[in-house]
Amino acid sequence: MTTKTPPSLAHSPTRPLAHPSPLVELRDVGFGYGGEPTLAGVDLTVQRGEFLGLIGPNGSGKSTLLNIILGLLRPTSGNVRLFGQDAARFSERWRIGYVPQRLSTFDAQFPATVTEVVGMGRFARLGPLRRPGATDRAAVERALEWADMTAFRDRRIGRLSVGQQQRAFIARALASESELLILDEPTAAVDAATQEEFYHLLERLNREVGLTIILVEHDLAMVAAHVAAIALLNRRIVFHGTPQEYAARDFLHGIYSEQTTCAVHPEIPHVHAAHEGVVAGITHTHPPHNIRHTHGADERPTRGEQ
Ligand code: ADP
Ligand code: MG
Repeated sequence: MTTKTPPSLAHSPTRPLAHPSPLVELRDVGFGYGGEPTLAGVDLTVQRGEFLGLIGPNGSGKSTLLNIILGLLRPTSGNVRLFGQDAARFSERWRIGYVPQRLSTFDAQFPATVTEVVGMGRFARLGPLRRPGATDRAAVERALEWADMTAFRDRRIGRLSVGQQQRAFIARALASESELLILDEPTAAVDAATQEEFYHLLERLNREVGLTIILVEHDLAMVAAHVAAIALLNRRIVFHGTPQEYAARDFLHGIYSEQTTCAVHPEIPHVHAAHEGVVAGITHTHPPHNIRHTHGADERPTRGEQ
């Protein structure tokens, strides 16, 4: 990974906050694919500059929620606002960069180089009518450098490792001057060292470039040391706060204790205290009997049977 500071990007922190409103506002959002609701009563606000870890077990609706934010799915109920505008009317899609969950399905023969893929991000920003010029080429160079992908610039995207493909997608978002970066379980297929490097890149993009980030992972322990806030999704947002607040709520004792059953999926996380007492982590080893809503200041439930 590059240790020197890459060149400034167009959306460096020196840039004034032209849009102080929240970038994402979900109010009472519901969605179903036809059967049981996948999302119900989802409230979530993401402010500019945030680095949010969105976590939840498999099938809890994380990718569905991202697709709603990306405008690929329309909610069946509730209200979505993006950059202060009604999502249905939001057209500046380039302002949201996306690193999809399944990159490894890329065809090895896919006939585009890394530079071309990153350049596509620039076209998205410019619109089809403007021919790219020196400014655009410079933006692509800076984006490649930030994502530490300069050495791979002429390689075919489909020939790269998953981690390299993800960095190419990040470079594409940087080239298009995305202000919000959304990543869906980016480290699912990479080793621990690559994962650490990757999170470190995200931290720098958040801190030094001012990029707002929503990072989806299914395991809190993976993201807790890197993100400023976490939102725990299980059909709705059952917790939203700092990792420290999460730990302080004694979630271990609270989450599965009452008789309120709202299990979306049998594989609701088993929450346990993490090593070093940093925060609680989530594994999927022991499906609990129930789960409860944990929003509310004075809930001190007793521990349920596990
Ligand atoms: P997560 O990303 O948290 O694993 P998803 O949003 O992918 O969860 O899925 C949430 C639920 O919706 C799951 O029960 C899943 O099976 C279902 N689901 C996801 N995509 C579809 C689809 N295209 N059609 C029908 N059901 C779907
Ligand atoms: Mg998913």
